[in-house]
Amino acid sequence: MAEYITSVGMEVHAELLTNSKMFCRCEVGFGGMPNTRVCPICIGLPGTLPVPNRAAVEMVIKTALALNCTVPVDSVFHRKNYFYPDLPKGYQVSQYGETNPIGYNGYLEIPDGKGGTKKIHIRRVHLEEDTGKLMHLPGGGSGVDYNRAGVPLMEIVTEFPPDIEGPEDARNYLVQLRALLLYLGVCDGKLEQGSMRCEPNISVRLVGSGTYGTKTEIKNLNSFKTVQMGIEFEGKRQAEVIESGGTVVQETRGWNEATNTTFSMRVKESEADYRYFPCPDLIPMEFAREYVESIRATLPELPLAKLNRYLKDFGLSEYDAGVLVSEQYWAEFFEECVAQGADPKLACNWMNGDFARLLNESGQVGLVSADEYDGKPASKIRPRHLVELIKMIGEGTISGKIAKTVFEEMFVSGESAAAIVEAKGLTVINDDSALVAIINQVLDGNAGQVQQYKEGKESLIGFFVGQVMKNSGGRADPQKVQQLLRDALGQR
Ligand SMILES: [Zn+2]
Repeated sequence: MAEYITSVGMEVHAELLTNSKMFCRCEVGFGGMPNTRVCPICIGLPGTLPVPNRAAVEMVIKTALALNCTVPVDSVFHRKNYFYPDLPKGYQVSQYGETNPIGYNGYLEIPDGKGGTKKIHIRRVHLEEDTGKLMHLPGGGSGVDYNRAGVPLMEIVTEFPPDIEGPEDARNYLVQLRALLLYLGVCDGKLEQGSMRCEPNISVRLVGSGTYGTKTEIKNLNSFKTVQMGIEFEGKRQAEVIESGGTVVQETRGWNEATNTTFSMRVKESEADYRYFPCPDLIPMEFAREYVESIRATLPELPLAKLNRYLKDFGLSEYDAGVLVSEQYWAEFFEECVAQGADPKLACNWMNGDFARLLNESGQVGLVSADEYDGKPASKIRPRHLVELIKMIGEGTISGKIAKTVFEEMFVSGESAAAIVEAKGLTVINDDSALVAIINQVLDGNAGQVQQYKEGKESLIGFFVGQVMKNSGGRADPQKVQQLLRDALGQR
């Protein structure tokens, strides 16, 4: 088959982490009894007037700036008119136009998989309100829950022609974007709960061709993995359609979780006419430059900048640095360890190795000082615990092997490494006479192997070291053991 390039445009909807809805004071939340977080404004009763949520507007400005977008001086809300039961007002308040959205003309840098970065251009970042949810009732028929109607929703759309090529790029883009939203504290990024929703549109073209193919859009992808699988599948499917002499149909396709395939949901004959017009109930927004700059000044160090700093300053691998920055609290934990004097590489190895494994198994999170994160309890291990442990290994107080046992113990009890080592007598044995006694015991008990060693089978030294380590309960200093063993064997 000829070679095809898969191009991907991405629309991401992110529910903003505000306390109240976009135009009323109803609480924002997940789950709960249907229609318990509603009021006359968000269910669109006549005579009500919307008041924009300032916190939501600021979150979008913040995101737009982090995505290197231009923030206009004036920005207005439009009505997007269509009829559907999940939309109580008969229109959705949104933002239309090229340079009207709160942010436009930006980019996000992502890793290019070759050790560099690649710019994914962003067309627009705008603010709108979410719709309600249709639900199938257990007794038959359908109902609608308006708890989500009017929740502030940010939409981030990539530029055309698309910079994202293939499933890997798409995944990298979403991973970076999600991390960025979490760092900014504007969205909780939960794909499986739908607070972050991705709708990729996909087309293929022959390598070397400048003409983009017909796009299809995939809906209901609720994890990074399914986004990646969906794009992969759709790219292959389209290429096969073209190769077999067919034409790709412009349509919306759904993702079948059970078969890992896409299926046709509805064919787009033409763009729907939403009759956009500026919402007469909402006055235009004006963003003074000082105001925008004051928001820019609050931007934290963003994930990719942090990652590059870890590579440069600490010499970590791209993989390790990527794992550390993937969650803000994890990066904070790491930086606190370094600030308290831990060697960055060792701290990173412990964190991404044993610590991550134990956290995973226990459903806890590693936090600097907070008690919980997103409903998960904090581990008893705080930076000072790890810093102390690393120091004890470095000073030769405990062996690396014993340190693993101490770490597991520390994870359960929250005791300091020193206290555990003290209570259990786990310090390294580097007293020569104590080691020689153990060595002689081992050599006496393995006369056959001693004989073989004397006859030239020097590789047996590893066996003897192992036996000595075992007899010392892992506490012997292995280097010292090697040296003393050779002496002892020489005397036999
Ligand atoms: Zn309301």
